[in-house]
Amino acid sequence: MTHPADPPPHAVLRECQDCGLFQTIAPLPPGDAAHCRRCDATLRRSSHDSVNKALACYAAALLLLLIALQLPFLDLRSVGRFYQATLFTGPSQLRDHGMWEISIVVLITLVAVPIIQLVLVLSVLLGLRGPHPPQSLRYAFGWVETLRPWSMIEVFLLGAFVAYTRLQAIADVEVGPALIALAGVMLAMVAADIVLDHEAVWELVEARGLKTILPDQPQQPLIGCDCCRLVLHARERSRCPRCGSRLLRRKSFSITRSWAFLGAAIALYIPANLFPVMTVIRFGRGEPNTLLSGVIELIQDQMYPLALLVFLASITVPLLKLVALVTMLVMTGERSARALRARTRLYRFVDTIGRWSMIDVFMLTILVALVRMGFIATVLPGLGAIAFASVVVLTMFAAHSFDPRLMWDQAAAAGHKLDAATAPRPAVPAAAAS
Ligand SMILES: [Zn+2]
Ligand SMILES: [Zn+2]
Repeated sequence: MTHPADPPPHAVLRECQDCGLFQTIAPLPPGDAAHCRRCDATLRRSSHDSVNKALACYAAALLLLLIALQLPFLDLRSVGRFYQATLFTGPSQLRDHGMWEISIVVLITLVAVPIIQLVLVLSVLLGLRGPHPPQSLRYAFGWVETLRPWSMIEVFLLGAFVAYTRLQAIADVEVGPALIALAGVMLAMVAADIVLDHEAVWELVEARGLKTILPDQPQQPLIGCDCCRLVLHARERSRCPRCGSRLLRRKSFSITRSWAFLGAAIALYIPANLFPVMTVIRFGRGEPNTLLSGVIELIQDQMYPLALLVFLASITVPLLKLVALVTMLVMTGERSARALRARTRLYRFVDTIGRWSMIDVFMLTILVALVRMGFIATVLPGLGAIAFASVVVLTMFAAHSFDPRLMWDQAAAAGHKLDAATAPRPAVPAAAAS
């Protein structure tokens, strides 16, 4: 592992997105990673022939996704009847039940965002190999970075697995080709995410002459671009010369926005747990299920691993996110220096794990899509589902709005001595800074 503390030749200066420390990163050998010396965040991960490998993976993912959208997704047989669903059946059924909000969330996270993201990233990676790459490529790659957390194919697959297991208790279920194709999309996207060195793409953007040349402004403070990670001397709110996004020292109105999203999420957390998420009617009988009673039913049916999974995703994770974010916001307000590294790690965890709570929403979509055979079982969505989906989305916005660097800023402003190795910012060689 390369330690960015020792400035090597041709090092680049970067700002840690999690703690705000400026530090130099050496040119990394393939397969190596550089970590922040203050909070241990990954600053860069390099890979051999990164762009070409990622291009192949993304192309395969797009092809498989387009196939998955055309084919049947699950087959259901019961008492001589046969029923088939595609990926669009669930959202359209939800809309018919007046739950258009959930239908839109599912269509955005399962279809729209992945397609837009894949088309954009492929056009960037292909365009950069062409003779005259257009300026728009760098904005497109900026969007790829922004959209990433909202593409939820892997979460949908886990939701499909839960739904599949539950449906087996009702009828004869078979996995359709779309589900296999979707699993392929997930594997290709995970592989692409592992091999793609984003910094290498931005370096290619620069090498192909797409960077705007700005006059040197050494009198301005150092600022790190949140989108492409370029560090330069520039005025706050001016445009980044490499990716074109606005340069901000910290996310604007971070604390106010985080509190606003968090307040709304806490208010909706109560109806999300009190109101039924769905009603399963079997043989004419059925009771509305809340999040918790759904878990209890799984335990009664002796589906213990599934009960644990749903309990973690639907009850523990949202609560953990709310408590963690409130703690971080309060401690930042108090300018506390306690457990800064642990809090930064907690922030990374909360930011990464949030999307997995959508499992229950996706499971509901699939159950509603398939189980509409009035003769044996019906699944009706409940109001709690809308509240719960809103909690997941709002906490994701709250985590995204929070700027973890403020925890370090506030502690430093209160005169706390941060970690000894971190106190003075490294001297900036002019070449590395521009
Ligand atoms: Zn850091
Ligand atoms: Zn930038």
